[in-house]
Amino acid sequence: MEIQELERLSSQVRRDIIRMVSAVQSGHPGGSLGCTDFFVALYSNIMKHDPSKFTMKGEGDDLFFLSNGHISPVWYSTLARSGYFPVSELDTFRKIGTRLQGHPSVDKGLPGIRMASGSLGQGLSVGVGAAQAKKLNQDKGIIYTLHGDGELQEGQIWEAAMYAAHQKVDNIIATVDYNGRQIDGDCFKFRKFTSQVGSIRMESIGNGWS
Ligand SMILES: [Mg+2]
Repeated sequence: MEIQELERLSSQVRRDIIRMVSAVQSGHPGGSLGCTDFFVALYSNIMKHDPSKFTMKGEGDDLFFLSNGHISPVWYSTLARSGYFPVSELDTFRKIGTRLQGHPSVDKGLPGIRMASGSLGQGLSVGVGAAQAKKLNQDKGIIYTLHGDGELQEGQIWEAAMYAAHQKVDNIIATVDYNGRQIDGDCFKFRKFTSQVGSIRMESIGNGWS
């Protein structure tokens, strides 16, 4: 997709996010709007995937896991605009019985989602497991994960990062939305809980990440 088309799609996704969150006066627009370009580029130009043939196993495909699940609006909009389900379904966001729960779930079978998230810190563990499964199956697919920077205060993130480095898992790309903000305010105010938040250098945990 050319840059003009990517920019047009990003604008559309941002409009979707505002409409969805405004309609129910509930949700997380900040991280969603901030990550829009990432999602549009990932789903339009980077990942190998076929929205018309979605399966939970995703054999042969690249897979994405959203670890900071509260930014679901940007993911739902990107999935719909990519063809995973009708755009009209975005109007059901956070309503009773919807497949578009405030935090992504898999129990209602929304195409494009393979992991429930919202409880922070779990996505990298799931991603590393999926990456290892791909290698065991001689599947060339790549795993992508997204995390909030505040989420890096979850110990499980670092357990997964260290494990992946030790196991030499090289088919996963983890991205951090480094916006300096978390629900309680400034991320750096909480730096004492995780010295890594100030300068994200995953290679410092064992030269396994670059
Ligand atoms: Mg943040």
